[in-house]
Amino acid sequence: MENTLQVYNTISRQKEVFQPLKAPFVGMYVCGPTVYGDAHLGHARPAITFDLIYRYLQHIGYKVRYVRNITDVGHLENDADEGEDKIAKKARLEQLEPMEIAQYFSDRYHINMDQLNVLRPGIEPRASGHIIEQIEMVKKIIEKGYAYVVNGSVYFDVKKYNDSYNYGKLSGRILEDLLANTRALDGQDEKHNSFDFALWKNAQPEHIMRWPSPWGDGFPGWHMECSAMSAKYLGTHFDIHGGGMDLLFPHHESEIAQSQVSNGCEPCKYWLHNNMITINGQKMGKSLGNFITLDEFFSGKHASLDKAYSPMCIRFFILQAHYRSTLDFSNEALQAAEKGFKRLMQGVDTLQKLSISATSKSDIPKLTANCYEAMNDDFNSPIVIANLFEGLRIINAVNDGKESITAADLEILKNLYTTFIFDILGLKNETENNQFELLDGLMQMIFAFRQQAKTNKDYAASDKIRDELSRLGIAVKDGKDGSAWNIE
Ligand code: ZN
Repeated sequence: MENTLQVYNTISRQKEVFQPLKAPFVGMYVCGPTVYGDAHLGHARPAITFDLIYRYLQHIGYKVRYVRNITDVGHLENDADEGEDKIAKKARLEQLEPMEIAQYFSDRYHINMDQLNVLRPGIEPRASGHIIEQIEMVKKIIEKGYAYVVNGSVYFDVKKYNDSYNYGKLSGRILEDLLANTRALDGQDEKHNSFDFALWKNAQPEHIMRWPSPWGDGFPGWHMECSAMSAKYLGTHFDIHGGGMDLLFPHHESEIAQSQVSNGCEPCKYWLHNNMITINGQKMGKSLGNFITLDEFFSGKHASLDKAYSPMCIRFFILQAHYRSTLDFSNEALQAAEKGFKRLMQGVDTLQKLSISATSKSDIPKLTANCYEAMNDDFNSPIVIANLFEGLRIINAVNDGKESITAADLEILKNLYTTFIFDILGLKNETENNQFELLDGLMQMIFAFRQQAKTNKDYAASDKIRDELSRLGIAVKDGKDGSAWNIE
């Protein structure tokens, strides 16, 4: 099974047979969040994409060391080399320590990822905890002659690098075009060329996140952390480096240059990138007013949302598209995903009560083969889901007496559903929550009848309702704002 897995390698621009450097071990590094605000739909896609990949690699027998960082320093506004640090800015506005901001939003990010059933990575290093490693790497790059120091800042010499290597190898950008496009930017006067990027930035007196270095007090450039931390935990050349397509340039392109110079090799064998999410055909952005956090999705509290969408509905919606395709969000699309997911979950229940026959009408083993084939074809989750729906059609047909299934095939189908729905796609049944919602809905209805009885001064009826509920183990508490209930 293992040898048939093909992955699309962004750097070679083609699908390649996945052959890890030291099978069965696989090293995977994924760029994680910059923790200065609540996680939104844009965070959910890379997290779920690489969760799917992580789950599948483990399923087919690899031992995966999965590293996903937390950026808590050095990521300046607009992904640039000038401007305020995103976390420091939030800290200034909220009058908190930058580390309080980082901790608060890391914790909230973890809660959201747990809700989405995203497995936690094995190592989750923070940029601020690896300043020494980053300084050491900057020193090496200076020693090799590919960086220069100006006023306490260190910049990577892209032109010199490009003379020997290819800066633009990953993103397909050409240096001459970059020069033409970036020349007009302000605040670039320290750099020899506008496309050079910061390895270390001198801290202005008002800058609160700062560390001592051979070049004075400052902080690392954004791209440094991933180069330093991936090398520390996975070695200087590892298997998979992943992230969103928005990170291709300049972040990943610069990581390649940094690693090539300091370690003498590119950081990884395979570059994997998930595509972006649009909302009603538009890019997501704070200024566009379509920036919806995951909490807002789960509660339905956002002007653009018709209703609340559960974490599994969001997860299923994302998995319905291939990770390299664009994915357009809309209420209609999410409601269709919600319906599909519910039907699939009903299929899981129906599957448990099917009766068996001497023959099967449909080819059940073929479904399993199709699902593996799809996953082996660059993790094609929409094809997997299509086959699970074909399974659902069979389940319903057998249940309706229109098809038959043998005991052996029923086992195969049960196995297919458990393996692919729960283990690989990482979906989970949310019916427990739904049962709570149903019960609460019934209770609100009973409270309304009881209130009606009270209004009619029929206290005997209102007391009877309370006593009957008590007999069922449900305690009713009357308050100023109405009644509340809980199970005793
Ligand atoms: Zn990164």
